[in-house]
Amino acid sequence: MRTRREQPIQIKTPSQLAAMREAGLVVADALRAAAAAVQPGISTAELDAIADRVIREAGALPSFKGYHGFPATICTSVNDQIVHGIPSRQTRLAAGDVISIDCGAIVRGWHGDAALTVGVGPVSAELTSLLAACERALWSGLAQSVAGHRLTDISHAVETSAQASGDYGIVQEYVGHGIGSEMHMDLPVPNYGKPGRGPVLVEGMALAVEPMLVLGRRQTRLLDDGWTVVSADGTRSAHFEHTVAITAEGPQVLTAEDGGTSGFARLRAEGQQAQQARQADAAAGPARPAVAPVSAGARARD
Ligand code: MG
Ligand code: MG
Repeated sequence: MRTRREQPIQIKTPSQLAAMREAGLVVADALRAAAAAVQPGISTAELDAIADRVIREAGALPSFKGYHGFPATICTSVNDQIVHGIPSRQTRLAAGDVISIDCGAIVRGWHGDAALTVGVGPVSAELTSLLAACERALWSGLAQSVAGHRLTDISHAVETSAQASGDYGIVQEYVGHGIGSEMHMDLPVPNYGKPGRGPVLVEGMALAVEPMLVLGRRQTRLLDDGWTVVSADGTRSAHFEHTVAITAEGPQVLTAEDGGTSGFARLRAEGQQAQQARQADAAAGPARPAVAPVSAGARARD
């Protein structure tokens, strides 16, 4: 690992990061508009048209359209589709589905990239937990996007959070990435692995962190369209993503409207609740191995 070239991640100037922030806010707007339109009966092509209109009305360009031939502005991945689903007039959402919407935008040549997964109307408790686990894993990774940390501190935090949330499959074939003057740049940001590896994070770097969790096993399969990635066992999945900049003030989430303030506050609150629950458990009786399944899982993967 130490033989890697130094600083392979593009370093941005403050004005370049400002353009990325503008792109990130356009992505946030487009995702909010598309997610708000999710309802039974709507087609994924209609969601694509909504996101495309928001991006172009903001004077930005969609990152995805034409990227290696991708035909649309957003990726729409429904149920067992994990990522890179192609919007279609034939694909209509049904109550109880889950849909991942992934979106990128370009402002003055600089990219933002984010994704979220929402239910189509109310969804099962199992799916609600899956979505919450994936979003929590994302924010756990974003919280490690701090100058002086190493790249895989992010990966490890994502994995540890996901494992603590349940027995989910953590997708390995598709990962986060550096981002800036291109959408996909060095280095890959895996959603698993040991901490303390890879380059030291420094101010001016920007990364897209994007965990994908599956209800069942983590293995994936590519459909014949050459884009759509599905879970190999057919179980449903979740995908959340944000673009984050490493700054002197800590992680700035460029694709979150408030820069990440509320997301990090929620993560801290959930962490405190979990700690209080563990303390209450410990006080209630003989010590139980509350964290044993997580550490056992981590050992098995080492
Ligand atoms: Mg994306
Ligand atoms: Mg991405």
